[in-house]
Amino acid sequence: MTSDSIADTIRDGQIPARADSVGPGWGALLDELHRRLHAIAPTYQLDGFDTQFGGLRVFVADRFDADGEFDGYWADAAAEAIAAAEAASRRTCASCGEPGRLRFRGRDRGPGLLLVVLCDACGLGPLRHEEVDPARGHRSPLPG
Ligand SMILES: [Zn+2]
Repeated sequence: MTSDSIADTIRDGQIPARADSVGPGWGALLDELHRRLHAIAPTYQLDGFDTQFGGLRVFVADRFDADGEFDGYWADAAAEAIAAAEAASRRTCASCGEPGRLRFRGRDRGPGLLLVVLCDACGLGPLRHEEVDPARGHRSPLPG
């Protein structure tokens, strides 16, 4: 495999290809992050997403120059862009994208608590992304 063919295929591993694996409300901030990372390194590679304490975590692959030298410039610039997106996720509703705050929710299955960032409207009921339809507005709060 030549390095040229790697450059042509690596974009499948970038943010837009996997943005639907996190809350739909974070789509805009992920678009912005992709734009910033792509401007720094058009062939950057996403390692994955995670959530921690309700906020988004973004992991990208390290980069190396032709001599195998670690690309510190990329690491610094990517870390700054990712930190901005992760900070934005902690105040952006993961469901609809409106301003939100951290909420505590029981898990549907298994032990432990789920922490999630939601706006006031989305935070009224259990977290079910598919039930939030922006065209119809939000559900009424659950009784009790
Ligand atoms: Zn919301």
